[in-house]
Amino acid sequence: MTQNSPAPQPARPSRPSPAGPGRPLTLATELTYVKGVGPERARVLEGKGLLTVEDLLYYVPRRYEDRTDPKSIGEVRPGETATVVAIVRHAGSRAFRRGRQTIFEADLYDGPHRLRCRWFNSDYLKRVIFPGQVLAVYGRVEEDLSGRYVRLFMTHPQHEVLGTEEEVQPGGGLPGAALSLEVGRIVPIYESAGSGKLTTRFFRRVIFSALERLGGVPDHLPRAVRDALHLLDRWQALRGVHFPAAGSDLAALENFRGPEQFRLIFEEFFFLETGVALKRMRAQRAPGIAFELTGAVREKLKQVLPFHPTAAQKGVLKEIAADMAAPHPMNRLLQGDVGSGKTIVALQAAVIAIENGCQVAVMAPTEILATQHFLYFRGLLRKSGYHVALLTGSATPGEKHKLRRLAAEGLVHITIGTHALIEEQVAFKALGLVIVDEQHRFGVLQRMRLMQKGRWPDVLVMTATPIPRTLAMSLYGELDVSVIDELPPGRQPIVTRVVSDSRVDEVYAFIRKQVAAGRQAYIVYPVVDEPESAVLKRSRTVDRDWGMDGPGAAGAQADPQSAIRNPQLKSAIEMYERFRSAILPGLRVGLLHGRLPSEEKGRVMAAFKAGEIQVLVATTVVEVGVDVPNATVMVIEHAERFGLAQLHQLRGRVGRGANKSYCILVTSGDLTDDAKARLAVLPRTQDGFVIAETDLALRGPGEFFGTRQSGIPAFRVADLLRDAEILELARRQAMEYLKNPPSREEAAALVRYVRDQWARRYGLSLVG
Ligand code: ADP
Ligand code: MG
Repeated sequence: MTQNSPAPQPARPSRPSPAGPGRPLTLATELTYVKGVGPERARVLEGKGLLTVEDLLYYVPRRYEDRTDPKSIGEVRPGETATVVAIVRHAGSRAFRRGRQTIFEADLYDGPHRLRCRWFNSDYLKRVIFPGQVLAVYGRVEEDLSGRYVRLFMTHPQHEVLGTEEEVQPGGGLPGAALSLEVGRIVPIYESAGSGKLTTRFFRRVIFSALERLGGVPDHLPRAVRDALHLLDRWQALRGVHFPAAGSDLAALENFRGPEQFRLIFEEFFFLETGVALKRMRAQRAPGIAFELTGAVREKLKQVLPFHPTAAQKGVLKEIAADMAAPHPMNRLLQGDVGSGKTIVALQAAVIAIENGCQVAVMAPTEILATQHFLYFRGLLRKSGYHVALLTGSATPGEKHKLRRLAAEGLVHITIGTHALIEEQVAFKALGLVIVDEQHRFGVLQRMRLMQKGRWPDVLVMTATPIPRTLAMSLYGELDVSVIDELPPGRQPIVTRVVSDSRVDEVYAFIRKQVAAGRQAYIVYPVVDEPESAVLKRSRTVDRDWGMDGPGAAGAQADPQSAIRNPQLKSAIEMYERFRSAILPGLRVGLLHGRLPSEEKGRVMAAFKAGEIQVLVATTVVEVGVDVPNATVMVIEHAERFGLAQLHQLRGRVGRGANKSYCILVTSGDLTDDAKARLAVLPRTQDGFVIAETDLALRGPGEFFGTRQSGIPAFRVADLLRDAEILELARRQAMEYLKNPPSREEAAALVRYVRDQWARRYGLSLVG
């Protein structure tokens, strides 16, 4: 291991001493025991997810400042951008513009020279900058010619308190050792922690001293991979990322593409993708059911089809059938935009399993969706003599009991349900195929729990949320992917408009016209009925009940600002009353939201499907899976409160039949730039993948799915958006390495390390 540390190497203790400051530091040392941290700061760090020295070392700077060449005030010239280190003599804030604004000023002195620094509306600096401190400021030097003397000043410089005068060397000179971390080098800037309690300087110091005391770290990235890509070793990378060597490329560092950062990003992805590859290989080797595709089965598959499948559907079924025929478990993700016809493909997969004597479980995130699948399956399979059952949370104890018995005895062929399916008491006699719809609403663990009710059943995961490639790779990397990239014939593009609510009467008139022509309409609101703060609070908990009103119906990305500007939030219940009595008198209006009892929900859906209800006022319960081809109008009020993916899903409820369909996004209040950008996407495109990519770019991966349990691993250095190409590289490298490792021992060591990392870092399991 090369040793060119930024500071002289302390002698490493030759023998571990039991306790005290001489105790050897390792990556696993808890931060409480690190000098300069202690229990209280350790608690703050824990809040940031930093528990050990290793965690701390992966807390990488958010940016860097070039303070290689700090200047004294006497040296700087107007117009130049520089780092100046000097002593604060006066500091304070005053009001101006009749007290509407404040200005904080600090005068720095260096002998006779003065530099005035000022910050507008930054009153908090009163508590940060005081006379007697040594301050480093970085910014553009300007001159004020209005007074008698030339005065130098900086406006809003970057600043850092380096210590008090007493802490600096006697004689007013700049402190040497104490300051060597802060100036005279490219300086790392960290995000502070504990609302500013732990400053960038704190991190700089503890990280520096941890690096000094460690003196080296093991590197788990296989040598062959490191060599092939000319990567730095881990120790070099960790030291360099915190304390870049003089002459480092600052622009590269700022873009997270310094060689140190590249190595750390790569390593993070490499270990994730190694885990993914291991899982894949394991599943490929596991014993599974080889479903036979005999002539009789093929005949049956044709019989259940109510229409001619599209070429895409045929192709996808072929991939699925091939997986099912193999003697290993299928692990396949079926992606297809809303309305592309995934359900029939799933149904055909079910037919293959049942004809081979196995049972099928279908899990959907909401009761409405589960019920709809149930009706769809039952309808199409009626003639085939299969027993199809529905199991949701609202079934009575008696019903549940009976159903569980039938499933355990192998008497139901297909059990369709919500997460109620994964309850412990539910057992199957011969579960051969597991279908999970709208996978991203479920966590990885839920999928696994359902799988464990069979012995290596085949698994088909379906999602209508097109998942950008990078997310798919990190989230579903162990799944094979099939895509239905074609809509059933005869679908027309949906006309999409964004209108302000000042024109909402025209929108209602349009609904009347469409209904008069025999069509049906949805009108969607962000809340059921109550003041939104209550809904926001509750929607977080509702989340766990599988989003009966959509996870965070009003909340996922509602902009708190717009809530203030727009106190009159329309709600589904209130508007339902108004439509019935005043706005759409004479029309048959229905109401659907997550808080209705299940039977009521079922009744309303059935009535809408049958055309008895002409206008359905709803919340986002209708977001997924609802399929009523005669509905041609989707009006979404307060559209600015919904996320892109949600809007796309809602729009997907129309355009399912032969008639021209419309989606009208009604906005209220002043829109934030963010909301404008989001809404502008929808009229432009109906391509779910384009919408998803835009959504990801606008919101970032963490927010993308709106739910925490989406299972996206939390990265320390890497960023899925910024580093997509490194992820691809890491994935290829991981697969190649495992296919062909230079030695068994080395590969085994890697596997051990990754197993451990997965459990600790990503909270994922390599089992299952
Ligand atoms: P999604 O992929 O969104 O789950 P569905 O499976 O609900 O889509 O299908 C949407 C609608 O299109 C359903 O009414 C379904 O019966 C119909 N459909 C699916 N495939 C075809 C096809 N090949 N030809 C005609 N209609 C189809
Ligand atoms: Mg569907």
